[in-house]
Amino acid sequence: MTTMPDARTTDQAPAVPEVVEVDAPRNAREAELLKRVPDGLFIGGHWTPSSSGSTLDVRDPATGRVLKRIADATPADGLAALDAAVAAADSWAATAPRVRGEMLRSAFDLLQERRDEVALLMTMEMGKPLSEALGEVTYGGEFLRWFSEEAVRIPGRFGPNPEGSGSIVVSHQPVGPCYLITPWNFPLAMATRKIAPALAAGCTVVIKPAELTPLTTLYVVAMLEEVGVPAGVVNVITTTASAAVSEPIIADPRLRKISFTGSTAVGRRLLKQAADNVLRTSMELGGNAPFVVFEDADLEMAVTGAMTAKFRNTGQACTAANRFLVHRTIAGDFADRITERVRGLVVGRGTEPDVTIGPLINEKAVEKADALVHDAVDRGATLRAGGHPVEGIGTFYEPTVVTGVLPGSYILREEIFGPVISIVEFDTEEEAVALANATEYGLAGYVFTTDLARAHRLIGSVQTGMMGVNTGILSNAAAPFGGVKQSGLGREGGSEGIQEYLTTKYTLIPSA
Ligand code: NAD
Repeated sequence: MTTMPDARTTDQAPAVPEVVEVDAPRNAREAELLKRVPDGLFIGGHWTPSSSGSTLDVRDPATGRVLKRIADATPADGLAALDAAVAAADSWAATAPRVRGEMLRSAFDLLQERRDEVALLMTMEMGKPLSEALGEVTYGGEFLRWFSEEAVRIPGRFGPNPEGSGSIVVSHQPVGPCYLITPWNFPLAMATRKIAPALAAGCTVVIKPAELTPLTTLYVVAMLEEVGVPAGVVNVITTTASAAVSEPIIADPRLRKISFTGSTAVGRRLLKQAADNVLRTSMELGGNAPFVVFEDADLEMAVTGAMTAKFRNTGQACTAANRFLVHRTIAGDFADRITERVRGLVVGRGTEPDVTIGPLINEKAVEKADALVHDAVDRGATLRAGGHPVEGIGTFYEPTVVTGVLPGSYILREEIFGPVISIVEFDTEEEAVALANATEYGLAGYVFTTDLARAHRLIGSVQTGMMGVNTGILSNAAAPFGGVKQSGLGREGGSEGIQEYLTTKYTLIPSA
């Protein structure tokens, strides 16, 4: 991205969103909550410092302030966590599914009691507006509830041997100790989406949250300890040395599964490492979601869907709409309405009332969004709103609209991961499908049309693992989440989610 020019050209004055200036002192409630978040590694039921004594600082992206200093694990700590997961594996696998399920259900209940403080913690470390953090508590909590119910519904099969003698029995067993790696953008849901099905299936885990937002995972794991999850079943390592700590774990023959959510580049690297140990893998990787609006769409519904699909999580979602493909006859109207709505967005620290757009996670993210916008403008696109980093403390970027984006622009190829709407015009359904599929990614897609037959055609022809029809949000604990192409392997959530942590065993029982 560094090769892209940083010119800022526009042929009309962009709309500038309101910016709330916040001093954001760490108030007593925030300070008290942070004090209660563990600062150690959780290994074999004990909170411990790093074996090197090293620590890492977790910062608030809205203020740049250090929120908390926590343990920075070494490779030896990572292996100690795996030792603990291995030691606990047999007894956890033998624990009654009902008991495993009840623990997850208790964790769900406790999370509901503490939803306000979990949301506040997420907003502090990740930046999303508090209302969205509360939404993530609901979404992330649902994985605990859903998999508490799935724990007692692990399916099997029994049938006659076609050869005529005896029976075929198909059963499922826990895959074994798992290594879970999560990203920073959904600190709660990415953790529960992996921990809950693993525990429901009878697997023990080592989880490594992103170093930028580890506090929510530490808090949740302390909650699991509180509801009685036995020592060694869930272990946490936080580290700035992700590669050095992960490699020996992934290479260890006692590990049986790796589940990763993050960028495609890191996912590819982990797949190569996993190959040497023939590990089961789940890869939830990057996206480049098309958001297709046909001329027959309910335009107001499409605009509302677009605002959600783009600005939720300040654009930092793998399912975020990245390319808005709009039929030429309505593209002007769509852009006008979107620009009007963007003027109503309020940028600021997510804890402040009325804020709808929080900071980006760090300076690098701001630079990337800015470079993508200016590359598109340099190639002929029009800037209708925003288009600049917000001056002052914190890593904020203005909500931005660019129209008439031309093929070849980086913004159509890369994950923007910021509050930027980029609009491309099309003339025919065939062209829309070709544009939608012109990416290496295939995670989510969105289609707005009132023509049912067209919607069904698009479900068939758009190459993604997930599709929203006339909606801008589709994540659901009861549904299989995942992608095709370079967006990954496997599914999380739904009845499919627990299968990722189970292995199939076939047994033949002769009758004579
Ligand atoms: P990232 O790939 O940089 O990091 C993800 C995790 O991997 C972090 O915990 C990080 O510390 C760790 N990591 C990085 N390098 C590693 C290595 N060499 N070995 C082991 N671990 C390593 O991604 P990110 O910036 O944290 O998250 C954003 C990305 O995640 C985006 O691409 C987004 O699309 C993707 N994402 C995907 C989904 C999904 O479900 N498909 C969900 C959320 C985010």
